Amino acid sequence: MTLSSLELTGDAPLLARENARLEMLSPEDRLAFAVETYGDELLLTSSFGAGSAVLLHLWSRFAKHLPVVFLDTGFLFDETHAYKDLLAAKLGLHVRVLSPEQPRDEFIVEFGADIQRKDPDFCCARNKVAPLAPVLKNAAAWVSGLRRDQSATRKNTPILLPTSDTDGNRYVKVHPLATMTSVEVAEYMQLYELPEHPLRAKRYLSIGCWPCTSPVADGEDERAGRWAGRGKTECGLHSRALASIK
Ligand code: SF4
Repeated sequence: MTLSSLELTGDAPLLARENARLEMLSPEDRLAFAVETYGDELLLTSSFGAGSAVLLHLWSRFAKHLPVVFLDTGFLFDETHAYKDLLAAKLGLHVRVLSPEQPRDEFIVEFGADIQRKDPDFCCARNKVAPLAPVLKNAAAWVSGLRRDQSATRKNTPILLPTSDTDGNRYVKVHPLATMTSVEVAEYMQLYELPEHPLRAKRYLSIGCWPCTSPVADGEDERAGRWAGRGKTECGLHSRALASIK
């Protein structure tokens, strides 16, 4: 069974059937299915943010032989780097770090220290989307930790989502945690004694680059502190795929 992006895109009943079947399975079984189906062509990216530990723990149970790709934009919190090192050691993960071609300081000199406020889409394209592109080109499927209860833009996230990048490379996005709630995430972390991101205690509930992340008030979406006030909700890694299911 391959279930390539092309097959799933061209066969709507097959895609609906697979998604209906996976919807009934646990996150564990969904990830096990993806590992069995896509083998070495399965990619996991992680921001090592506030909600990353559950998927990383699942990965350590079902796909430890495969690397975890971490995008170091140059604008991450020191606490995120420390959390990455802590989780990687605890779970025995092999982390592959990707960095933008242009170092942070040169990028700032060329485009200005307020580039994240003036043009966050450009900054994300250069520092997040571009470094991942060569890796994504060789992947048949890409696992990420999107959950439906994180924000309005993620509320319709399916388990399998065939998509393509701007260069036309096709892959299947796999979202094993799509149905998990924030309460279930907390229960899972407690069950397996997973450490919290150090900034979570300061109400950073979704954590990316420091110029674009702020704490969240009571009652707000988990992702309300990302690019707050800038009319942007996704970094570009997932927005193309999510736009197709709105
Ligand atoms: S999240 Fe902010 S700092 Fe990070 S790449 Fe995007 S715009 Fe740049």
